[in-house]
Amino acid sequence: MQGPDWQIGRMFGIPIHVHASWLFVFFFVTWSLATGYLPDMLPGLSQPRYWGMGGVAALLLFASVLLHELGHSLVARRYRIPIGQITLFIFGGVAQMRKEPPHPRAEFFIAIAGPIVSFLLAAGCMGLVALLEWLPAGTSVQGLTVLGALLGTVNAQLGLFNLLPGFPLDGGRALRAGLWAWSKDYYRATSQAALVGLLFGIGFGLFGAFLLVGALSGTLSGALASSGGWIVLLGAFLFAAARGSRKQAVVRASLASVPVRELMVKNVVALSPDITLEQAVNQYFLPYGYGGFPVVQDGRLVGVVAVRDVQTVNTSLWAQRRVADIMQTSSDEMSLSPDVSAIQALERMMSLEAERMIVVQDGEVVGMLTRASIGHFIEQGHPSGREHAS
Ligand SMILES: [Zn+2]
Repeated sequence: MQGPDWQIGRMFGIPIHVHASWLFVFFFVTWSLATGYLPDMLPGLSQPRYWGMGGVAALLLFASVLLHELGHSLVARRYRIPIGQITLFIFGGVAQMRKEPPHPRAEFFIAIAGPIVSFLLAAGCMGLVALLEWLPAGTSVQGLTVLGALLGTVNAQLGLFNLLPGFPLDGGRALRAGLWAWSKDYYRATSQAALVGLLFGIGFGLFGAFLLVGALSGTLSGALASSGGWIVLLGAFLFAAARGSRKQAVVRASLASVPVRELMVKNVVALSPDITLEQAVNQYFLPYGYGGFPVVQDGRLVGVVAVRDVQTVNTSLWAQRRVADIMQTSSDEMSLSPDVSAIQALERMMSLEAERMIVVQDGEVVGMLTRASIGHFIEQGHPSGREHAS
């Protein structure tokens, strides 16, 4: 997502971020509740009261979105998919998953977990509203009833909207799970489910435009203008997201068909762990200009050293410190077999947040794979005209 975002906390160890566009929608929701919905539903209260209630309701609505995303995230974690962060933005929330789901069943359960949370929240709010009916009537009971009914309705709508079967909506993910189970082709399933998403995007765009034009020309109620505008934006967002997913599926399918062997740098320059940082910089980093090197001793990979590791050490100490002191020591996670597919390699690099991995065969370093070389392959293998043919 482009533009600034801020971390506001963590839940279950997952960083929670709000995107700049969220602030806009937060003020918009508060404003429309405080100046339209609440004065209609609860006449006769003071302005500060409406704004206070509007703010609280807007916060609770976004807490609902957050819980929906946590539903996806916690089920994903059960399938060992790491969650980078949850971001709240103008159209709701998104949980960043660092890995593709392992099988269709996992995909299905991760997808429906969000709407299930929303429906449970809706049921809880409606239950609360029903209980409030038993209390003696008063302003605060009335206020709670209105807020409860609003939250209940919005959560139910959130659950229903997300169940639309167009990828990347949750219903579209469930559809992809089904197509994937049926065709056994994950990328084709993604592309097909995203096509449905694309069509929903167009449908929303047209419907929103119809409302907007009707409201502005006076054939429909003027109050529908802002709904129309939102629906157009939502349709455009869905369209763009579905189109992006289709492109990504094409790229990923081609990465799945290439082994690491074909993308790796073969003439790997390796460092000895015993040289000083000064030697490493002067004899390797500067002349070769690479961002990192494998560290090898007696033909075995013992670690990896990158520019940023060297930068953590003060220049005045470079003559005394050795590569062995600062390198990231080798682990099985850090190395790859040349026979795994480029997509598996890329996913591992993403989940480890690694820029490069060392390719090892029979204990010997045979190459190095960098994210840059994968990016280069994607650019070369996919001139922009090709996606239209697929
Ligand atoms: Zn969802």
